Amino acid sequence: MRIYHGRIVSFEDSSSPKEYGYMAVGEDGKIISLSQEKPDAEGELIDYSGYLILPGFVDAHIHLPQFHRRAMVSDSLLDWLERYIFPAEMKFSDGEFARKVSREFFSALLRNGTTTAVVYSSSHREATEIAFEEAAKTGIRAVIGQVLMDMNGPEELLTTPERAVNDIRSVALKWHGFDGRLFYAVTPRFAVSCTMDLMKAASNVARKMGLYIQTHLSEQMEEIMEVKKLFPGFESYTEVYLKAGLLGEKSIVGHAIHLSGRERRILAETGTKIAHCPSSNFFLHSGVMDLGAQERFGLTIALGSDVGAGPFVSMFEVLRDAYYANAMSPFKAFHLLTMGGARALRMEKRIGSLEVGKDADFIVVNPEPLAGTRDDLEVLLSRLMILGDERNVTATYVQGRRLWPS
Ligand SMILES: [Zn+2]
Repeated sequence: MRIYHGRIVSFEDSSSPKEYGYMAVGEDGKIISLSQEKPDAEGELIDYSGYLILPGFVDAHIHLPQFHRRAMVSDSLLDWLERYIFPAEMKFSDGEFARKVSREFFSALLRNGTTTAVVYSSSHREATEIAFEEAAKTGIRAVIGQVLMDMNGPEELLTTPERAVNDIRSVALKWHGFDGRLFYAVTPRFAVSCTMDLMKAASNVARKMGLYIQTHLSEQMEEIMEVKKLFPGFESYTEVYLKAGLLGEKSIVGHAIHLSGRERRILAETGTKIAHCPSSNFFLHSGVMDLGAQERFGLTIALGSDVGAGPFVSMFEVLRDAYYANAMSPFKAFHLLTMGGARALRMEKRIGSLEVGKDADFIVVNPEPLAGTRDDLEVLLSRLMILGDERNVTATYVQGRRLWPS
């Protein structure tokens, strides 16, 4: 058993965080106790006095092959995809290259305090398997999926419904549920690049195998107009996904900015979750997601970096942009980042907060030099939310194991 000492803060709800001085973690990586006083038990004491200990960050939407394509300014989402992203993703047909970037990617996540990531791989089965292998080696928690497209993209990145189903089956059979940490997400890129046949085949296999589903929804007006052209019989973009069977309790849609009330109702009724990616939305000038409107429909919101449209791997920086997009208290922002992410993945019984019985996924944060030390928790978290970045992360633990620094 190990006993961690520091300013331990957990965000079970969005208004009143819990604070402790000591956290005991068992050999199985689960939290045994949380207390103000040092527990009366034998165990190695790890002293993080002067540091904050927070639940690990959940990045609910990030693209591995776009890691080195951040900050590429462009006219629009569709233009950006064609000019920079499709060429970058084509390089992942080279396994050695895919392995090198996967390593850099997962180590950057851990260095930034992300303990759980929901990842879009490239359109290649081999590169997706490599992503799983590298994630397994690091010990990070991740949901990963091969991006599917069968129209409106370069030939090399296109698949067919049959091939897609075979690829999903073979990789998911091996990796979905691995070590209780790695899971598979069926990942059609978005309706602009997928036929109805492909989306239906993908959602079928997801349902049969109990896999997650992730895709993009209503990010930009130009994209929405394109979907209207491609799927003329539908009332809305959301209804295309409804018909395709892509919405449900284990589905996460990225962005979901420009929605009607009817679309929000469909998302809520199907239990679909939203990955809100404010840094990406500012970068591509996609619009500002209305958090209050989503919450009025009872939708579950997680936060995503959306690297590479989002320039920042650090979820501290995504928090700052979430605050600029929708004013909120630092308590609520950290709640969305941790519990929101866990709920979106339906993992709230295992991760998302520091509670007895949960997995010890946590990070050690040094408030200096960016935020200064303050006694008042709200002030301290406010400064971290606006000024924080990877320099504030001192250590990252998953299931009680220190993964960074390794
Ligand atoms: Zn994305």
